[in-house]
Amino acid sequence: MALCQKAHGRKLATGRAQVLVLYELEPPGLEEAGAGHSDIASVSVCKLEKITHADLLHALASGFDVICLQASSAPQGQDLQRLEVELVRALGGLGRILLFNGGAGLDRQLSARLLPFPSVAPEVLAVGSRRDTARASAAALLPASTGHADLPDQAPYGSVSLNEDLCNNCNSCVWVCPSEALSLTENGGALSFVESLCTQCGLCVSICPQRALSMAPGMDLTAYAVLPHLLAGSGGKMDAADTGEGAAEDPAAAWHQPAETGLPIAEVSITPVPETRHTGRV
Ligand code: SF4
Ligand code: SF4
Repeated sequence: MALCQKAHGRKLATGRAQVLVLYELEPPGLEEAGAGHSDIASVSVCKLEKITHADLLHALASGFDVICLQASSAPQGQDLQRLEVELVRALGGLGRILLFNGGAGLDRQLSARLLPFPSVAPEVLAVGSRRDTARASAAALLPASTGHADLPDQAPYGSVSLNEDLCNNCNSCVWVCPSEALSLTENGGALSFVESLCTQCGLCVSICPQRALSMAPGMDLTAYAVLPHLLAGSGGKMDAADTGEGAAEDPAAAWHQPAETGLPIAEVSITPVPETRHTGRV
């Protein structure tokens, strides 16, 4: 939060691009890199794989223009990082995050001229849980017309659909749901769902004896996501959100950068966000 506040303040004062470099082994040449037109904030991190998409999205939405994240030295850690970076790209950070290996040549990449993006005061986005912060940050990063962001498999956000013809009202899915995303309506006669609470853990789908449930990763960026609504089939209201304009680009296509090589910032497409918004969506 403090780092983001400083970056946000520096950008407002100078108009210079803000770059965050997160590393375990300090890359050479960081001191001088970008000195001409960017401000570099370098931070030593004990466990790079502990940096989540929520942290990265918050940093991008609230002060930093580009993040350079060093790949973990552990292969399993790199797998975790890939998913986190893939989520960041799908939720508004496309072209603004670089996963690099080692650090040789990073100084040359950092010397590329970068355009500053609009940002929101960090404390505005740090609301509620980390999931809430990620959601608010994504809403600030993506174009205002984006109603729904497609996310990769294994994403911890998404919807659940019900085939009402198959459901026998056993309520097993409600009892097993660990996040209370699923519940019963007041009269107990129907299933209710809150998308913002669903972690896509899959327990409800697994336990359903009728195979009546299915999951779809994604993030509804409208206020509808936090409201309880009747669990519907894929032809229900949830599909209306799926058709939101300006959906994020294909995240699978976006995640093509091998951690071993990294993608030079100079080759990263950086497009100013046409509109920054942070209200009305949580
Ligand atoms: S996928 Fe998990 S969190 Fe989502 S509704 Fe099913 S049990 Fe609940
Ligand atoms: S577990 Fe399956 S059959 Fe039982 S209430 Fe849930 S959706 Fe219906």
